[in-house]
Amino acid sequence: MAFVVAKFGGTSVASPERIQMVARRLIASKQAGNQVVAVVSAMGKTTDELVGLAKALNPDPPAREMDMLLSTGEQVSMSLLAMAIQARGYKAKSFTGWQAGITTDENYSRAKIEDIDADRIKREVERGAIVIVAGFQGLSESGDITTLGRGGSDTTAVALAYGLGADVCEIYSDVDGVYTADPRVCPRAKKLDEICYDDMLELSSAGAGVLQARAVEFAKKYNVVIHSRSAFTDTPGTFIKEVTPSMEQAVISGIAHDTSEVKVTIRDLKDQYGIASTVFSALASNMVNVDMIIQNVSEEGHTDLTFTCPESDLERACETVERVLPKIGAREYVVDKNIAKVSLVGTGMKSSPGVAARAFTALAENQVNILLISTSPIRLSIVVEASQCANAVRCLHTAFDLDSDQVYEETQLSAEEIAAKMNKGR
Ligand code: ASP
Ligand code: MG
Repeated sequence: MAFVVAKFGGTSVASPERIQMVARRLIASKQAGNQVVAVVSAMGKTTDELVGLAKALNPDPPAREMDMLLSTGEQVSMSLLAMAIQARGYKAKSFTGWQAGITTDENYSRAKIEDIDADRIKREVERGAIVIVAGFQGLSESGDITTLGRGGSDTTAVALAYGLGADVCEIYSDVDGVYTADPRVCPRAKKLDEICYDDMLELSSAGAGVLQARAVEFAKKYNVVIHSRSAFTDTPGTFIKEVTPSMEQAVISGIAHDTSEVKVTIRDLKDQYGIASTVFSALASNMVNVDMIIQNVSEEGHTDLTFTCPESDLERACETVERVLPKIGAREYVVDKNIAKVSLVGTGMKSSPGVAARAFTALAENQVNILLISTSPIRLSIVVEASQCANAVRCLHTAFDLDSDQVYEETQLSAEEIAAKMNKGR
């Protein structure tokens, strides 16, 4: 018997059939003797549709109203799921974020959880109910509804698991765990049985979409064990937890790629103190999220400065750079949108020399040209031309002995067909 918090993403609750499937899974867990709390996202693409509605009425919708609007998506799925469970003769009760005791700061649309008072949820669980909590939302101290940032239901689940002292936080989605690389890009990728928080955090930040980086950060801080698994099968997925001595330390745990960034190069700027500060202070105050930065060796007192940022920040980045060009004595700037960042991640890197050499050799042998490089103690990121992304991921995957014997095939069945199959006979 265990105390389980189970989170279901938007695809897992996208239709009545899939909600039935979730209901059955939760009931099965309850029948197995577990105490069960579920956290749900909004159905399918609901959140995007709500954003669309808002933009149709106001190009710059006020953040407070936006959170009032977006929090409704999760309320639909939580109540439907509770009804589906009740229809099967089991006790279930749904709660909004604030009813579940989740208090946040005042930052609408990206609020941080400040406190959890899970007593009410705990009482309901002890009375035998399957409790459903709306993900992605909380209440600020001034009493307004807030949301936790896109993908925030993962964070709700981890926070509740901590607040309830649960044994595990299961995160169900349409992928069956954490892979050594995205199997759609690298068919020889293999599923990991377990991975430590630090590696998972780097992978999530470097573009692996399985889990929200903030949720992993939270889990690490409070030592919550996450089990990332598929909503459409019963096979175990990947456990994200503290490293244990029994965990085999591979040099590289996984390879992430990210095609959502762009590269901006400022040409011929003055090579003197204060210039970088001028550029990056201006970018920061314009809310541009800078990732990699490279400055070239200077020639005759002038140099080139390159940085990458999310494509969604590009407009603001261009505005800013244009404004500071005269101040920094630069000639021009160029934007390159056709790039991909490929990151090798592994805590094992710290204790094994030669990772960079091995990576660069593999890339050279496969004629992949490197545009930018950046490193941390447990990550090596390179930027390549977007068209070379898959090639780079695959050859690095092979070079670091990560290839599986089996070739990944995308399942032929649609999620609806799997749901129908699983619904049969239960
Ligand atoms: N529904 C929210 C979103 O789409 C939160 C979540 O899915 O975790 O971002
Ligand atoms: Mg989601």
